[in-house]
Amino acid sequence: MPSAFQNALKQLDGVIPYLERDYPDEKKFRKIVEKLKRPQRIIKGKIKVVMDDGKIDVFQTFRCQHNNARGPFKGGIRFHPNVSLDEVKALSMWMSIKCSVLDLPYGGGKGGVKVNPARLSQTELERLSKAYAEFIAAYIGPRKDVPAPDVNTDGQTMAWMLEAYEKKIGRSAPATFTGKPIELGGSLGRTEATGRGGAFVLESYAKEKKLNPKQTRLAVQGFGNVGFWFAKLAEDLGFKVVAISDSTGAIFDKKGLDIDKLGKLKEKHGSFSEAAKKNGLKFIPLRETSRASARGLERRVFRFGGIPLPTKRGEKIPQASACGSFITNEELLALDVDILVPAALENAITSQNVGKVRAKVVLEMANGPVTPEAEEILLKRKIDVLPDVLCNAGGVTVSYFEWLQNLQKDTWKEEKVNKKLEEKMKKAYRQVAKVVKEKKLSFRKSAYLLAVKRIVDAMVLRGRV
Ligand code: NAD
Repeated sequence: MPSAFQNALKQLDGVIPYLERDYPDEKKFRKIVEKLKRPQRIIKGKIKVVMDDGKIDVFQTFRCQHNNARGPFKGGIRFHPNVSLDEVKALSMWMSIKCSVLDLPYGGGKGGVKVNPARLSQTELERLSKAYAEFIAAYIGPRKDVPAPDVNTDGQTMAWMLEAYEKKIGRSAPATFTGKPIELGGSLGRTEATGRGGAFVLESYAKEKKLNPKQTRLAVQGFGNVGFWFAKLAEDLGFKVVAISDSTGAIFDKKGLDIDKLGKLKEKHGSFSEAAKKNGLKFIPLRETSRASARGLERRVFRFGGIPLPTKRGEKIPQASACGSFITNEELLALDVDILVPAALENAITSQNVGKVRAKVVLEMANGPVTPEAEEILLKRKIDVLPDVLCNAGGVTVSYFEWLQNLQKDTWKEEKVNKKLEEKMKKAYRQVAKVVKEKKLSFRKSAYLLAVKRIVDAMVLRGRV
């Protein structure tokens, strides 16, 4: 399978032929494109952290700064066992594109630590976060590179990093990190921002394609920050979320799930499968009629205490709002839904499993969840793929608002944040959709075309050849 960075390069290459004619000096244009394919700087190394038992553990860490022609590098920090140089390179390039699609005055960056955070205590996580911030301190700052949370990092992580960074530089600099807790200069609305931004894209797309939200069924892969908020806000907009998964499995209800209830369940038990076990879940063979089961998908139904189990064949299964069928992640991808929303990790839909996808639209909330090969197949089947660089840009957009508030020593009301986010997301959608129509290109190619042109223009103006 191609690596994430190879995928990112392929996506970039895909729009170059459409841009060539805008730049009469072909040699200069080619040189700029070559520059855009390489990150400007890679900071990598091993950091030592004292563990609770007094032993020292060593962690591989990265920060990749892709391009800053349009402004300071911007991008999250990920704690995950699969973090690699290739991955942060891809993610940093996607950040450059994303910030440009949204017309934010930023370039792209990304960082990560190769670690399984679930195996670390809070104090170990604190020491790791602080050590990482010290390690990259010389390369970050409000006008250099502005990190934020990503997978397995959050406001608390940013608070620890801010503390270590400010201690190191000897002055206050809250605008160095975004996604901070409110008490430390974080913005209202930041937690929900990525999901909310995706919901605005969904709303815009549905309006353009004249889809009735009530009849539009969504399956969401991933129930972390992004998946939860996206699903909840989509539900608030009237869409029907029929399936949602975490890494342990998925819950399906063709009548629509109650996202708040599932959120509480997950919060209490940590995972859907644990919740199922702890709630005295009873498993029975599925008899419910759904097109997925009609096509032979094996599934088992669960429900929480007190609801009588159907015994007769064909008997209607009473649905409690927090109940549904327990299906696997693979089955979620294969559900007969209108919109499939991968919101977990990259490479979720590949050439291997794309044949199973039956949705009419894929809306990418994770970064890089659909490989280029899989996307080609989807597009041939006339399935629209709404790209990550547009759909999940709500987080970085509110990060930008947070950065502005910090620099101006201001605090915005949540309504103002959400309103401005809506304006930004819907404007970006309109601009991308206009290119889709005018150039008859896919949504991703159109978004890349817009974004790469803006970056190349900035590089030309700066004379970066
Ligand atoms: P998170 O750690 O909060 O949640 C990840 C979720 O994915 C969890 O529910 C986890 O159980 C689930 N998951 C993991 N592996 C899975 C699998 N194989 N199948 C199904 N579910 C699986 O992370 P997040 O912040 O929600 O980020 C999710 C994605 O969105 C990542 O690709 C991230 O880069 C991207 N993203 C996040 C933000 C943000 O603001 N948090 C912004 C832009 C993009």
